[in-house]
This record gives sequence, C-alpha cells and structure tokens, in this order.
Amino acid sequence: MERLEKGNYKLPNWSMEARCTGNGWGQKKKPCYGKWKLEDGDILKRVTSETTYYGFICPDCHCFTELDSEKIPLEVREYCPQVAARGSDHYEKLTDEEKKLSEVL
Ligand SMILES: [Zn+2]
Repeated sequence: MERLEKGNYKLPNWSMEARCTGNGWGQKKKPCYGKWKLEDGDILKRVTSETTYYGFICPDCHCFTELDSEKIPLEVREYCPQVAARGSDHYEKLTDEEKKLSEVL
C-alpha cells in the first residue's frame, strides 16, 4: 500500500471561547479568569477510573479548566492528547509529549 496523503484529523475551522476558571478539578493554582479562543490541538483530556474529562491548560496561570464535552466535536475529543498528574497510574501510560504537557499540572 502506498500512502498518497498523510491523514489529518484536525478540524481547521473549529474553535470555541472559554474562560480560565479552574473549574472541574481539585486545583492547586489560582485561576486567572482570562478568556481564550481554543482550537483543535488545545483540548486535552484527563481520565479517571469513573469518567473522562475534557478541558484546557491556561498558558498564563497553568490551571486546568474543564469544558462541557458536549461543546467539543467528537473528532477533537477522540484525538486530543491526555494529561495526568505525575505519580498517578495514568501518568505512566502517557507518551513523552503528553508527559511534557502534564508538567504544569
Ligand atoms: Zn488562567
């Protein structure tokens, strides 16, 4: 088989606005309440034994803010990187890139 074009799952025209509130998880940092335009690639997921959360890490204050997953397209949710707090079971299963993203948590 010969690949003619590398697959690209990204949704170039998708974006959403969200405020950094630190909503959703036990937060060690104080959220800055800045407002952001999020695109495909900014969305991250966190997995617990009960459920999966989607959200973003604020570039300013590094808080993780959970988003309403209903507002995030399925394609974005399926391919987004996972983050986890260091020391958790999930952290060990992350890729090196995902561990790097998780550093600020
Ligand atoms: Zn923030």
